[in-house]
Amino acid sequence: MGRFSGFKVTLRQMFKPRVTTHYPKVKREKPQRFHGRHVLNRYPDGMEKCIGCELCAGVCPARCIYVRGADNPPDAPVSPGERFGFVYEINMLRCIFCAMCVEACPTEAITMTHLFEMSVEDRDDAIYTKDELLVEADGTPNHGQPPSRLIDLEELKIADGWMRATAPAGRASYEGIPAWSPSAGVGLRPPEMGQSATDAATDEPGDDSPDEAPGHHDEEE
Ligand code: SF4
Ligand code: SF4
Repeated sequence: MGRFSGFKVTLRQMFKPRVTTHYPKVKREKPQRFHGRHVLNRYPDGMEKCIGCELCAGVCPARCIYVRGADNPPDAPVSPGERFGFVYEINMLRCIFCAMCVEACPTEAITMTHLFEMSVEDRDDAIYTKDELLVEADGTPNHGQPPSRLIDLEELKIADGWMRATAPAGRASYEGIPAWSPSAGVGLRPPEMGQSATDAATDEPGDDSPDEAPGHHDEEE
């Protein structure tokens, strides 16, 4: 009797859908707020968003960010601010992917992507420099020249460093409206679950005019 019960369990499991995939040939879609490797973003005009303020380094619980700011050259400014991130490094061996640096950044210069393949053969390579972190001119994450074998170029196209889906507060009435600036890469992302304007039940009644979004710039839409 006990033996046949065991077979029943085996047969039942055999016909259930598989939860495993043939990674790396098949990659599962990551949740929108997945914390992958960081990028340093640019504005759509190509200027760097980092102003070298070191807030990210100060808040990092793993102490794995090193930043040094410098004054922007007046005739060829790197960022729209007074200063820019002259040196920027993250030690990925120490990072715990908590995203506190993303929360702390006043200009949304540092964000996290969906890229997670970061195997290295040398410990020094795990320290990502500014050159590696800064996005390409089109806003996609830096992928090296020639492209690293660790990077799936198709995934890269949708993996820019913009984690925000619709609005900072996640209110459905802000769907499609960036509060600061759009991504230079894939642009606005679709709303997350419960943030779509069609899902009216999740939106708060009352004062929800998108025109009142803080820091909203019409010219950046
Ligand atoms: S994700 Fe967390 S641990 Fe990693 S660099 Fe940012 S603040 Fe530090
Ligand atoms: S990434 Fe953001 S928080 Fe860090 S130094 Fe640059 S502007 Fe400041």
